[in-house]
Amino acid sequence: MSFYSARVCIIGSGLIGSSLALALKQAGAVADVVGCGRNSATLQRALELGIVDHYSTDIAVAVQGADMVVLSVPMLAMREVLAQLQPVLQPGVMVTDVGSAKQSVIADARAVLGDKLGQFVPAHPIAGTEKSGPDAAFAELFRQRRVIVTPLPENNASDVARVVAMWECVGAIVECMDAEHHDHVLAATSHLPHLLAFTLVDSLARMDESHEIFRYAAGGFRDFTRIAASDPTMWRDIALANSFEIKQMLLRFQHELEVLQHDLETKDAQALFERFSRAQQAREGLQF
Ligand code: NAP
Repeated sequence: MSFYSARVCIIGSGLIGSSLALALKQAGAVADVVGCGRNSATLQRALELGIVDHYSTDIAVAVQGADMVVLSVPMLAMREVLAQLQPVLQPGVMVTDVGSAKQSVIADARAVLGDKLGQFVPAHPIAGTEKSGPDAAFAELFRQRRVIVTPLPENNASDVARVVAMWECVGAIVECMDAEHHDHVLAATSHLPHLLAFTLVDSLARMDESHEIFRYAAGGFRDFTRIAASDPTMWRDIALANSFEIKQMLLRFQHELEVLQHDLETKDAQALFERFSRAQQAREGLQF
């Protein structure tokens, strides 16, 4: 199925929403992009950068004539945006999102969309950087990246296929799975590493000798902590939206840290070597 839209409305013209707008334009898959958000300065910047063709801070105005609405706001803003969208959403207009956790946005949609719930097809592009806002956007962000679509029982197969086609036309590899499984997997591969990076940098920064420590930080520290430069609002929201799954992963990781601590205390060279070897092998087998 190919994708073409006469007008896409992007609510939240930050890194992800703006990158999708640029990618759809580059693919010749959209005639017109409308930006929407709470802040005119951000939307004006998106206009100057050629990301959106026009904009409004009023959702009712922004969605006029759009056949696809993409929600690209922080997780905890989703419910409010969906609630504003509900009364102005016309039949046949599709809504999708890019939120990093899926069960919470689905709960938001169930709470506020009423009989329009079937028009909402949830999705999550597994692509991003530690940067935010329209200036950080680029059209190639989703190429060869995975996008997970988590359809609802209320969705039509043709609507799900349209969202899949939208992501495929910007170069993404799309998979469908249920929202619970999505949140479990993403807690392990994305949410836990981000929270660990934030916590490591924060705890070192609060040590008395932090100036000294950071002066000698090199490549390993830079690689491990790059994601701690990510937007705190976005990550606060993701942490809360997927708190149950993240907590399970943290418990597991805490146990591993206790074993590691024991291996250090007992100077168990064999256990340390085996742990590092397993990790090295697993890391070398990964394809990004
Ligand atoms: P971002 O660059 O900070 O963009 C968020 C946008 O939402 C901004 O344009 C912001 O504009 C707007 N916004 C914030 N609160 C709003 C509200 N209450 N009502 C309307 N607009 C609002 O963030 P992003 O990285 O694009 O993330 C957007 C979504 O994508 C999040 O749900 C995130 O979980 C998901 N995601 C992110 C990544 C990633 O790596 N960054 C990857 C995959 C998915 P103003 O602040 O100017 O209002």
